[in-house]
Amino acid sequence: MTLTAPGSLQADAHAGGPVPPCPARGLICRNCGATFGLVAEHACAECFGPLEVDYDPEVMRAVTREQIEAGPQNIWRYVALLPVGQNPADRVSLDPGMTPLVRADRLAEELGITGGLWVKDDSANPTHSFKDRVVSLAATAAKGLGYTKIAAASTGNLANSVAAHAARVGLPSFVFVPSDLEPGKIVQSAVYGQTLVAVDGSYDDVNRLTSELAETDEFEDTAFVNQNVRPYYAEGSKTMGYELAEQLGWRIPAQVVIPMASGSLLTKVDKAFRELAAAGIVEDTGWTIFGAQSAGCDPIATAFDNGWDVVKPVKPTGIAKSLNIGNPADGPYALDAVRRTGGAIARVDDEEIVRGIRDLARTTGVFAETAGGVTVAVLRKLVEDGRLDPAKETVVLNTGEGLKTLDPLEPVVGPTHHVQPSLKSTREAGLIG
Ligand SMILES: *Cc1c(COP(=O)(O)O)cnc(C)c1O
Ligand SMILES: [Zn+2]
Repeated sequence: MTLTAPGSLQADAHAGGPVPPCPARGLICRNCGATFGLVAEHACAECFGPLEVDYDPEVMRAVTREQIEAGPQNIWRYVALLPVGQNPADRVSLDPGMTPLVRADRLAEELGITGGLWVKDDSANPTHSFKDRVVSLAATAAKGLGYTKIAAASTGNLANSVAAHAARVGLPSFVFVPSDLEPGKIVQSAVYGQTLVAVDGSYDDVNRLTSELAETDEFEDTAFVNQNVRPYYAEGSKTMGYELAEQLGWRIPAQVVIPMASGSLLTKVDKAFRELAAAGIVEDTGWTIFGAQSAGCDPIATAFDNGWDVVKPVKPTGIAKSLNIGNPADGPYALDAVRRTGGAIARVDDEEIVRGIRDLARTTGVFAETAGGVTVAVLRKLVEDGRLDPAKETVVLNTGEGLKTLDPLEPVVGPTHHVQPSLKSTREAGLIG
């Protein structure tokens, strides 16, 4: 099973103009540099290192701002920089992306940030998290590779997105989640009428189970979005970086604060900036990447603090469940991106996360899930500790919707007054004189 030959100009199968060439020329091992075709593998046959998509820089350099700006108002405007989906008819997608970049002046003032602060609000995606970006790429690759079913191990948002993509195109899907997930995420996965398996264990247990299932005859024709098609899946996160630059008027922000589960999103935002600069689409003005974790699941933060190149797995706890990956696959690469760009990684506890959610909502009108609370709280901590430069333009990512994780908010927010439907009662409550 292979995708269309890289770099080949495909026939124009739609009315919307020419189909750009595919810039992907194969997969490359991030560990030993061995190269492979565009196949359904995520581990190197030589050294078991992780595979990633390798692009032809010449094809990338031919891409222009004008070409991107003429595209649709979703991630596919960047298709000339992506490994799959060049022909719209081949896409399996809810068409996510081009989510709001919200100016956060009031939050900036509270935190003492003078260089400008923005919130990239990915809760506006079709299933209300950034995962729609990666699943659109994974599902499109799965179709191109000839798979007939899709599946995923998930901390919640990935399950929501895989089930919704499958429902849109009538493809069977199988999602596996820890059984102790937030009720909002369980319901949102179940409503699409696909197979949802609640597993009594942590995400890392679920991930191990799906790796074993992938080897069985029953799942032979199944694309596991974050396993056998992970190289394609992961590239979807680049669109977050492309959008930040485009929405800032084709400028790379000086500082970005990014939540980490596996660490993949963080590495791909950095990759997107490098690609845009190398292709001459933006000026290479430099940037600094900061990572955010919760104290309940902080293996990458701990490796950063100790100067380790490897990440020691932990057993996750705490309310930021979408980030609770104790053995993060891209941990070493996330550490590299943060160190290479002069950034830092910080952790915050559950109380700080709830405060982060409330601070963001109160000052911007954006309601984030716990992962967004982690990122905002880490931003505060980085400013307070003098590790993030308040005089530089900063973007903080909100990767998920607050309605998905109501549980930690319910004890701390609620009606400010409780009245009977009469003026007398509202007067007694102090609302009128
Ligand atoms: C999955 C997820 C992340 C992080 O993803 P990785 O690429 O695995 O680091 C961040 N925020 C939310 C809400 C997520 O669901
Ligand atoms: Zn290798």
